[in-house]
Amino acid sequence: MLAATEYEQVTQIKMSRYPEFRPATYVSAYLVDSLLIDSGLAHTAEELADFLKDKAVKTVVNTHYHEDHISANALLKERYGAELLAHPLAINRINQPATLYPYQEEVWGYPIPTQAKKIGDSVSTQHFHFEVIHTPGHSPDHICLLEKSHGWLFSGDLFTTTHPNVARPEENQWQIIASLKKVKDLMPQALFPAPGRIISEPIATLEQTIQYLEDLGHRVMELSDNGLSPVEIRQQIFGDESLLAEFTQQQFSSENLVKSYLKKE
Ligand SMILES: [Zn+2]
Repeated sequence: MLAATEYEQVTQIKMSRYPEFRPATYVSAYLVDSLLIDSGLAHTAEELADFLKDKAVKTVVNTHYHEDHISANALLKERYGAELLAHPLAINRINQPATLYPYQEEVWGYPIPTQAKKIGDSVSTQHFHFEVIHTPGHSPDHICLLEKSHGWLFSGDLFTTTHPNVARPEENQWQIIASLKKVKDLMPQALFPAPGRIISEPIATLEQTIQYLEDLGHRVMELSDNGLSPVEIRQQIFGDESLLAEFTQQQFSSENLVKSYLKKE
């Protein structure tokens, strides 16, 4: 299913293969002028393409290569000749067949590999100008788009919640903290995340998230210095793994979150 709502001149397009937008099973793309930011999941690619029939989309920017952000790329390129843009580190992931966990196949579906082009420093449409901000941490190729004159920040999966308790294996929380600080310093007036609701006046939310993640990191490092293993640290801070960990075959787990603070790179 698909539902569109307006926020100033931005259209939020929520997509899910299920009949309601339950957390962790839907994702949003954003349409501004002729620019679509992310293209969502494979199971709703046709629905999205139909919705965009009269919208004259010229460009699709993927915030990162994950399958719930790129999976209508091929269809939008084929049907509307959309130009596909992503960070240089995303290109080789977008044009290769994806390897997915069974739950990802169920919830999102497989993207058709497509050839995207490397995005530059900015993207312009008829009425707006977007700066490309490299924001690694959730994934190495992650970017945000900033429309400075309106203070709109399209944040992909950089921000999910103020108190994350799970992470994917490839995440690096120290990088996420640095990226959150980078976007906070841009003084956005509105945050447009892929996984959740639009946030007006997001500075306090960003500050709260940064504080939480820094405090958590210091706690993890201290326990690690005291000789605790990642599993012991996870048990002490979060207790047992959540249902989300079970549902995602441990792809999103608290243990991954702990480990993501202990990475050396
Ligand atoms: Zn992601």
